[in-house]
Amino acid sequence: MPYGFTMRQWLAIALLGLPACGGLTEGFQVRDTTVTVRTDAAFTRSADFPARVESTLQSALDYWGGSWSDLAGSAIVFEGAAHVECGSNGPSTGCFDGDIRVTTQDAGRTISCVEATVLVHEVGHAVIGDAGHDDPRWMDFAVLVETLIGRTGYDASGPTSCDPVANVWRHPPRG
Ligand SMILES: [Zn+2]
Repeated sequence: MPYGFTMRQWLAIALLGLPACGGLTEGFQVRDTTVTVRTDAAFTRSADFPARVESTLQSALDYWGGSWSDLAGSAIVFEGAAHVECGSNGPSTGCFDGDIRVTTQDAGRTISCVEATVLVHEVGHAVIGDAGHDDPRWMDFAVLVETLIGRTGYDASGPTSCDPVANVWRHPPRG
């Protein structure tokens, strides 16, 4: 494999990373951002995952007009639970509150690739704020999807399709 970890190395890291509470936790750095994995979604165990996170973040930062400094010092957490807690918003598919948390499930199905999570949406909040989603870019997604299309997804049995977020608007406004 040209880069990243082999599956065997990932398994070794996963075993070393087993915390006392029993969940699967591991992590890595992308630039100055800490990525934490709390899910067994297959794409997070793929050798290309760190590079895919970085390239997806780069595309999202480009789309929103941000830079890596907007994410410096933040954490990005991939959660296996169907929802993440998000302050007064309650259970959500993603959250930005200084850190980013996204679920790796979508309507009961495990997501097949990082590009299909709500990560690019939450990067938008990190760059422009706009908790009310007033900016038209929340609805205008074609330019962003073009940069992420055609990649490989993964499920428990191997490679599958990867459908990037069809819309940077992935959760309804407030409630
Ligand atoms: Zn939002």
